[in-house]
Amino acid sequence: MSHGLSQEQQLMRASCRAFVDDVVLPFIRGNWQREWDMNPSARLPPEILAGAEEVGIRALGVPAEFGGLELDSATEVQTFALIAEEIARGDSGLADKLVQNWKVSVLLRNLAPKHLQEKWFARLVDDPQFLLAHCLTEPRGASDRWLPYNVPEAAMQTRAVRRNGDWVINGRKQFISNGYDAGLYVVYANTNPNAGMLQGTSSFLVPRETPGLTVARCNETLGCRFMNNGELVFEDMRLPADHLLVEGDALGKAGVYFRPGKIIQAAKNLGVGVRAFEVTADYVQNYVQGGRILIKHQAVALRLADMATRIEAVRALLERASRAVDANAADADTLCNMAKVYASEEIMKVAQHAIELHGGNGVMLDFGVEKLFRDAAIFLHMDATADISKLKIIKSMFPATAGKYAGPE
Ligand SMILES: Cc1cc2nc3c(=O)[nH]c(=O)nc-3n(C[C@H](O)[C@H](O)[C@H](O)COP(=O)(O)OP(=O)(O)OC[C@H]3O[C@@H](n4cnc5c(N)ncnc54)[C@H](O)[C@@H]3O)c2cc1C
Repeated sequence: MSHGLSQEQQLMRASCRAFVDDVVLPFIRGNWQREWDMNPSARLPPEILAGAEEVGIRALGVPAEFGGLELDSATEVQTFALIAEEIARGDSGLADKLVQNWKVSVLLRNLAPKHLQEKWFARLVDDPQFLLAHCLTEPRGASDRWLPYNVPEAAMQTRAVRRNGDWVINGRKQFISNGYDAGLYVVYANTNPNAGMLQGTSSFLVPRETPGLTVARCNETLGCRFMNNGELVFEDMRLPADHLLVEGDALGKAGVYFRPGKIIQAAKNLGVGVRAFEVTADYVQNYVQGGRILIKHQAVALRLADMATRIEAVRALLERASRAVDANAADADTLCNMAKVYASEEIMKVAQHAIELHGGNGVMLDFGVEKLFRDAAIFLHMDATADISKLKIIKSMFPATAGKYAGPE
């Protein structure tokens, strides 16, 4: 459906859909073993990212003055959602790879010094394989960082200290999207161990080739496997002073990343659900059991109705939340967390119906439907767990009570 979309949005969606139907889906169907290649660099052929470049969706978020395709700012997040859904309908891991570039570009255009924007946006625009990453999660802290635990003992373990005019960082980050193959990282570190994390966390730009940075491993994930999730270690990693993005209140300033980020997350999740519905609707109208095509059995029809209803409910909340983020509405924070967590739980159920309606075929690797179930499961864990997302919703609605740390007064 195209209601409410601008001409630009309709054209972008059409070219993206054609790319997914003509390039991405045939690749996935024809090469289902590729995601299990234990050489992470060999999984996704470079032509796929080059194809994304051709349809103009690789460097969204980059300002026009640096060669990007600038979207209408009044509807930018809604357009991100539209395109993220389309790509994830083809492959959720590919969508993960691309959207990190958009999200981090938004962060950089807001926070990075001009000369570094010039340098890194040029690298991103010129090289279709160039990827960005955003590194917060550590072995002892992740999405719970946004709960009201604003106390020194909950602070980041990764530490940055000033030495002779530079910054020196020690620590590690885990579960980072594009962590294995990014060319540029945004890294969060503690710069004041006596303060709560909302006052004591700073963010830095870290080029991949920085001495002291080691990409320790690529995680072998259950789903979204065409995005290479990685672990990073920093050992006396020295950065020039101008690579500091935000000193002290970096977590608060990361809102420009996280609000569109939650919307994009929900939109990718929706794309997985839409694909699960498409393949299931096709299957039940062709596969014969008990002398009739499956859809004629009423229990099957009911499940299909349940899938369609959940998808439309997710879409409705997503549209409302993305409009709120674009409008910078007072309830944008609450709504984008709602959209993210609601999508993850509803689309998981959609994917479950999909594999059940496919019977035995639903769990065969070469059939391809189980991949959607695996991809859907990842969303429960990305960008905050379901429980933490719900706590954040209530914290944003009741800051004076739920928003206060439950520890000692
Ligand atoms: C595919 C993938 C991609 C990711 N990409 C990135 C990325 O690009 N950058 C990045 O920084 N991170 C990334 N992450 C990390 C992701 O944000 C975290 O996995 C997520 O926030 C959960 O943190 P955790 O894994 O440490 O789980 P934990 O925090 O250890 O949670 C374990 C369980 O305990 C619960 N829990 C934890 N703390 C509390 C609390 N205080 N109160 C109540 N319950 C609690 C959780 O809800 C969960 O059920 C990614 C993760 C995945 C799986």
